[in-house]
Amino acid sequence: MHFIDVILPIPLTKTFVYQVSEREAAFLEKGMRVAVPFGKSKIYTALVYAIHQNAPTAYKAKEIDQILDRAPVVSPQQLQFWEWIASYYMCSLGEVFKAAIPAALLLESETIILPNKNFQWKGEEFFSDEESLVYEALQHQSALKIQEVSDIIDRKNVLPILKSLIDKEVIHLKEEVYESYKPKLLRYVKMHEDYSTDEALSELLDKLSRAKKQREVVLKLFSIEAVTKKPILVKDLETESQVSSAVVKSLIDKGVLEVYHLQTDRVQYDGQETMDSKILNEYQSKALTGIEQQFKVKDVVLLHGVTSSGKTEVYVKLIEQAIAKGEQVLYLLPEIALTTQLIKRLQQYFGEKVSVYHSKYSNNERVEVWNHILKDDGRAQIVLGARSAILLPFKNLGLIIVDEEHEVSFKQFDPAPRYHARDAAVVLGKLHQSKVLLGTATPSVETYYNTQKDKYGLVEINRRYAGVLMPDIELTDIKEKHRKKRMKGHFSDRLIEAIEEALELGEQVILFQNRRGYAPILECQECGNSPQCPNCDVSLTYHHYRDQLRCHYCGHAMAMQHSCIACGSNDLTTKGFGTEQIAHELTDLFPKAKVGRMDSDTTRGKYSYEKLLTSFERLEIDILVGTQMLTKGLDFRKVSLVGVMNADSLLNFPDFRAHERSFQLIQQVSGRASRTQKRGKVIIQTYNPYHQILQQASVNDFQGMYKDQINERYQFKYPPFIRIVKLVFRHRDYSKVNESSEWYMQALKTVFKGSGTQVLGPVFPAVARIRNEYLKNIIIKIPAHQSLKKTKQAILKIDKSFQSIPAYRSVRIIYNVDPQ
Ligand code: ADP
Ligand code: ZN
Ligand code: ZN
Repeated sequence: MHFIDVILPIPLTKTFVYQVSEREAAFLEKGMRVAVPFGKSKIYTALVYAIHQNAPTAYKAKEIDQILDRAPVVSPQQLQFWEWIASYYMCSLGEVFKAAIPAALLLESETIILPNKNFQWKGEEFFSDEESLVYEALQHQSALKIQEVSDIIDRKNVLPILKSLIDKEVIHLKEEVYESYKPKLLRYVKMHEDYSTDEALSELLDKLSRAKKQREVVLKLFSIEAVTKKPILVKDLETESQVSSAVVKSLIDKGVLEVYHLQTDRVQYDGQETMDSKILNEYQSKALTGIEQQFKVKDVVLLHGVTSSGKTEVYVKLIEQAIAKGEQVLYLLPEIALTTQLIKRLQQYFGEKVSVYHSKYSNNERVEVWNHILKDDGRAQIVLGARSAILLPFKNLGLIIVDEEHEVSFKQFDPAPRYHARDAAVVLGKLHQSKVLLGTATPSVETYYNTQKDKYGLVEINRRYAGVLMPDIELTDIKEKHRKKRMKGHFSDRLIEAIEEALELGEQVILFQNRRGYAPILECQECGNSPQCPNCDVSLTYHHYRDQLRCHYCGHAMAMQHSCIACGSNDLTTKGFGTEQIAHELTDLFPKAKVGRMDSDTTRGKYSYEKLLTSFERLEIDILVGTQMLTKGLDFRKVSLVGVMNADSLLNFPDFRAHERSFQLIQQVSGRASRTQKRGKVIIQTYNPYHQILQQASVNDFQGMYKDQINERYQFKYPPFIRIVKLVFRHRDYSKVNESSEWYMQALKTVFKGSGTQVLGPVFPAVARIRNEYLKNIIIKIPAHQSLKKTKQAILKIDKSFQSIPAYRSVRIIYNVDPQ
């Protein structure tokens, strides 16, 4: 008897055993997909993990449903990497599998509704109205999906009706597996082979002498075929010969032209490599040589180059070297949606060798990129992607670039696996014996520490490209400005003056405010009440544009209240401010300026972010107001002024990384100012102009910031001196969260007593209830000298006991390793 172990895309940690025939066993390989029955009636896509002859002892193995691949879709190195992620980040291999593979490759079973052939019509009264609609539909269609039934009767819950129809023996249900990836086919056209001889052709042209347009199409096709051997699209033929599709269609109907289909990629870059990479200047060349030198002795190197120092061009040189050796290159970015500029740049250099792996791409598009990488067929030799791109089927990785390595968004938060793509990339690099380059203008404290400990190499560029000066950063004391009545709304006279000046010179302005919406709090002046989210413990944010109050945690929205819900007073006021309010104030202050807003409210659609960028680039926007989206590597020539509306909101975050983050944000957003000859200006409004971090940010004192932060981290026991595992308990029942986390805490204390591992909590986080679930945190601080692996094993053992307590089983625990 033959068996396979498979990974299922579910949170259970173990693999599952299924039975296969001898022939199937001989055919199957690790990394192929099979469809398997699981639970009562579900069919899942599973991944073959091992093939063997050991029958399971605890249960009888089911047979597989079908084999889905002819060759593995997951590479051996990839599986090995997934295993590391699962074990390091404390989740199941199934969760990694699910996160990694494009949804279109995860077949799902779907319940379909079939008519019962033996059913005899029993008259109108036999059915309710809704039932008869379903019955009616099944007279015209051989099967219905649940969703279709729901559409027909126009309600969500269709199960009662289906159940009733089953009881009445009108329908039955079946589970069906379907492959949701469909190759995209394009229509091409060629002459029918009957007309391949000269005689046949001239005869045809004679025949068509009265159908002028058709004749033209035939001639056109000939002239195109004469110059190109490439397939000709039906669509192209129509445009080229300037006829309607009806003309071409009649030729196809007559059998003069023949249509055929070819599979194509949905995302295609049809341009050629149009540009050579740039010649590096002195500083870039030195950095490049430095990196090459370091790579001889180190696997990981940090390129610490100030904003606009030309790091990207250095990466490009390294990419050229890697692809010349036939290696694959992974280029990781914090948020791929924000990188149109970079994609264009790389495509100019590398043409169709560049593939982008993108969460905004459709499922089918992702499958195509996946397959190119798996086959290593040249079209995805350079993969540009956000964090999940580390999970792709690389075979032959030579170089990994992690751009903006300091960015928090490299850490996946929900759902599992909660991995940090930068840290995981270092491990991925080891597996492939490839080099890893981390690049940023503002290194994270952890990474910089690794360079100081000689674990990573370090290369610096301290000058902006082409001698552009670093921006001049000015701190403006708004406490003082308020006192002297020099504020208009949220703008100091200093900022207003600087904006005026920039606008006068036809330059652009960027204003940064790390909050979207109009105001985070609406408050009654009479009784102090402020509308709260019914599902979460937060105030609702006022959104002026939609005249709504919205929850930023669960999305709950309600119409704006114009009188207090508690006391009825009309005397309402807002507290705090977001991007919307700034944009609003700007239109009053600068009625002639065109104001744009960039935050997650204005960039939801697939192309809306790009559109906004393009119009900024085309100078259709004078002042762009936005959240930290603005800080992400944009390169605009005409921006001469950057304003930070309120730096204090960054500093006051209750997190050990808050100061480091503020420094990074301010430096990054400042970096948007003046990337050309004229020196850019940055104005930071704050109540604390003497705050150490703001002082350091204003003079680009990275070293000073690093020294302070690393000392604090040492003193108060934070990474990189210790490791953190954070546990989050979640449940709808308040006392259950309290009791269960308390139980867990006691267990931790017992296990780790005297070990040096510190356990803290349980405590409620700042927002203690989200989507009607209460949250409570436990922090485990593990000293550097202690085995992380053993500590995690001990935690998992406690988890096991926890799960066996019936009262706590419904409590969800999230394990977050290296929380950000
Ligand atoms: P960074 O990534 O360090 O912020 P970029 O790589 O975006 O900097 O470079 C900043 C600007 O300078 C870009 O517009 C880029 O095209 C230009 N640039 C950088 N290096 C060169 C070079 N060697 N030759 C010509 N232009 C360059
Ligand atoms: Zn009130
Ligand atoms: Zn909410």
